[in-house]
Amino acid sequence: MYGMIATWHMAVEGITKGRKILKDRGCAADAIETAIKEVEDFEFYKSVGYGGLPNEEMEVELDAGYMDGTTFDMGAVGAIKDFANPISIARRLSKEKVNNLLVGEGAEKFAHKEGFQRKNMLTERAKIHYYNRVKEIKEQEIKPYSGHDTVGMVCIDENSNMIAATSTSGLFMKKKGRVGDSPICGSGFYVDSKVGGASATGLGEDLMKGCISYEIVYLMKEGHHPQEACEIAVNKLDEELKERRGMVGDLSVIAMNNKGEWGAATNIEGFSFVVTTENQEPIVYLTKNVNGKCIHERASKEWLDNYIKIITTPLAREGGKIKK
Ligand code: ASP
Repeated sequence: MYGMIATWHMAVEGITKGRKILKDRGCAADAIETAIKEVEDFEFYKSVGYGGLPNEEMEVELDAGYMDGTTFDMGAVGAIKDFANPISIARRLSKEKVNNLLVGEGAEKFAHKEGFQRKNMLTERAKIHYYNRVKEIKEQEIKPYSGHDTVGMVCIDENSNMIAATSTSGLFMKKKGRVGDSPICGSGFYVDSKVGGASATGLGEDLMKGCISYEIVYLMKEGHHPQEACEIAVNKLDEELKERRGMVGDLSVIAMNNKGEWGAATNIEGFSFVVTTENQEPIVYLTKNVNGKCIHERASKEWLDNYIKIITTPLAREGGKIKK
């Protein structure tokens, strides 16, 4: 038995590649790294890896996390610049005894020494998004968080080893040095091969307040189905934050247990995710929260075609010429 689940539709090509590795009896670690690299390398996914949206200072600072649910090896990078595949650096760091989470210059120094591929991650398209946002911010008050997504995955292989991992450019227009939940073990991701794994996307500052991925794995350990565990964790954190702070950011999660059963939950409209199992080719679902229950609906061909159209439509810089 094998399976994979991931946040957002953007994971579908990666999950398809990862599934092939699992089908050929490859390990969960290789399947998940390959799947996430696919998302990092695709320039039109503007919230992960190459083409990711920059911080306030127009620099692409990336976060990634990786955890092995069998050994509990954990590695992560925060605010790393100019490296093609943060997920591979996170996986490599998980093999270290100490210094597992490195940020900024220290992460870059490590990656350079280990021979990871350097790359300028800021694309022309991301620059246009940046300049247009700067203009919008001047004209009206806009919160930095808008349409910003992390790819988070959980994978189980034939040997029942489980891996969870994430990769993201974090919040658009974030402060230089800001690190979100994605590279934080327990918040952006968590996995225990004896139970299952989970990963989160949304407003990192709020997801961290509930250590939400750990919470979901804990609930599964207590006997909850992944779907129940996801719903309980999201609804509980959503309510707590509304009660204590009067507001809550976007919270979306996915989970899979060590039987390959899965779940997803959200407190927003329009959360999509991708699942595959041994008997099931990758499927993209859209989910919505109706009175605490999350209802999943398979994305239609029309929705999928439209998605690709939107993300690849040429962008115009306000007052400038059209670019790819
Ligand atoms: N959780 C990510 C962060 O706060 C962003 C996202 O998943 O949308 O950096």
